[in-house]
Amino acid sequence: MLTTTWYIDFEGYQYNNRYIVKEIAILNKNNKTECYYYFTQNPSDVPLIRPINKTLDYQHKRHRLDWEFGNTKLLDAIADIKDLIGRHDTVLAKGPEKTRFLKKWLPQITEMCWLTTPFKELRRCCGEICHFRHGLNCARRKVFELYAADCLY
Ligand SMILES: [Zn+2]
Repeated sequence: MLTTTWYIDFEGYQYNNRYIVKEIAILNKNNKTECYYYFTQNPSDVPLIRPINKTLDYQHKRHRLDWEFGNTKLLDAIADIKDLIGRHDTVLAKGPEKTRFLKKWLPQITEMCWLTTPFKELRRCCGEICHFRHGLNCARRKVFELYAADCLY
């Protein structure tokens, strides 16, 4: 069976010790035209308006994805991603917390613990930002960064 490797990353907020995903992206290592990304809505049990909170303000300034932004439910995006990623494919993510968060849906996910360079120092793929052009803290760009950095190892 033909299997491949995918890179996955997301952008969003951390609120009450949970991730609020706003943008999630995957990239196929063997075929870079296969890059998919989704803008996801907040879960229904968080406030409709972004709470006044310095940490959330800071996170918003970083990625410029509004609290109310998103056109698809996270679980629908995940279902789509699970369809795209074969059961025997490898899925790579950066960071232990993100990896743990995604593992409940993607049990085959592996943390790229060999990639110790922080994201802010990975700047090879600035041209790969998504069409929404909300800045460099973009999940689409970041999966390309993971790919580029991984290929150096
Ligand atoms: Zn983006």
